[in-house]
Amino acid sequence: MEQQARLDISVGQTASRGLTVTAEMIQSYAQITGDRNPLHFDEVFTSKTRFGRLMAQGGHRDRTAACASGDGYAGRGDGVHKTGVDVSSNRVHRRHDTRGGNRPFRAPSVAYGGYVVHRDQPRRRRRFERRGRSLPGRAGGIISMPTVETLLHGYSVNADSGSFGFCAITLVRGEKLTLVDSGHVGRRRFLVQELAERGLTPADIDVTVVTHAHWDHAQNYDLFDAPLLIHTHELKYARKPHDNDWATPRWTAAMLEFESRVQQVEEGYEIEPGVRIMHTPGHSAGTVAVIVDTDSGPVAVTGDGIQSAHVAMTKQNALIFWSEKDARESIERVLQTTNTVYPGHDVPFRMLKDGGYEYLAPKQMLLTGLDPADPGISFDSTPPSPSVMPGIETQSLERLD
Ligand SMILES: [Zn+2]
Repeated sequence: MEQQARLDISVGQTASRGLTVTAEMIQSYAQITGDRNPLHFDEVFTSKTRFGRLMAQGGHRDRTAACASGDGYAGRGDGVHKTGVDVSSNRVHRRHDTRGGNRPFRAPSVAYGGYVVHRDQPRRRRRFERRGRSLPGRAGGIISMPTVETLLHGYSVNADSGSFGFCAITLVRGEKLTLVDSGHVGRRRFLVQELAERGLTPADIDVTVVTHAHWDHAQNYDLFDAPLLIHTHELKYARKPHDNDWATPRWTAAMLEFESRVQQVEEGYEIEPGVRIMHTPGHSAGTVAVIVDTDSGPVAVTGDGIQSAHVAMTKQNALIFWSEKDARESIERVLQTTNTVYPGHDVPFRMLKDGGYEYLAPKQMLLTGLDPADPGISFDSTPPSPSVMPGIETQSLERLD
């Protein structure tokens, strides 16, 4: 077999490629992939979101970036693949420049893709990354402003016989890949699938944050090799949960500590520049939010400190296991820091100056195996009233010692 030459590329080099995206391409992409998110088709809907107008699907951006790198080097036996897998034999890393992909779209429009060569960082291979505002990089490359994206949306759907417990699972992409909450085992396959669709496996995650130890937020963390960040008070509480606390079973601490990856953190802990922990107690003793400084300002990934837009509006946490007073203060503090919230059991939203809010993503849920015409099935759209655990007055940090 013919011996292939090594690539003549070095840290700091860039490449780019433009692609004109038409309305027809948006339509065909939807036919192939089933991506019929209204953000791509419904002008009335998008006009009410922060994007303001129709957008191209993310796939246009990703493929454009992949082709920019693949076109230049693929086929030379050098380990560069059109799928965007980075170069290993040459010990450099590609980085997809995805400017344009999520920007407002009006056909015809242009999506830009490209790559930047970075120094070798083995754990960062096979990643598709977004590049935000360019800042001086440690290795002479480029550092991104972190971005936040939802892998699985949270929903507060309940039945008269139990809770679905679908919490939001969120990915923060910066210098590190940080996963905020991992959900319960009923969502495990879907979480892995969402990662795979982004060219990631659980091994690519650098840090996992457990916003709090409740069953529906923490069960899948064993999928990851990364450190598990949890607030000191939360871990302490998980070792000694209140008898009436049905969301923190007594095996919780054993579950969290069965591997030695638990790292206790407190207010202000910095995961990386621009990504930090805020202690937001009330829902539980050690609930935290992750505050991310993005290109468009700070964003809060709150877990159950703020479960939904309704909770942000009323300043009343939906379910309190620790302290009503703390819960209210935590909501106020988050909203003083940012108006953009990735909540625990709702789709992301932004608080508006007029006192209302707007959702930043559509709610999309398909319930299967239910026939609305079945006389045994009924629906109730009334939001559940806030609930406080009986015996909450005996909750205190002293009790945990
Ligand atoms: Zn919770």
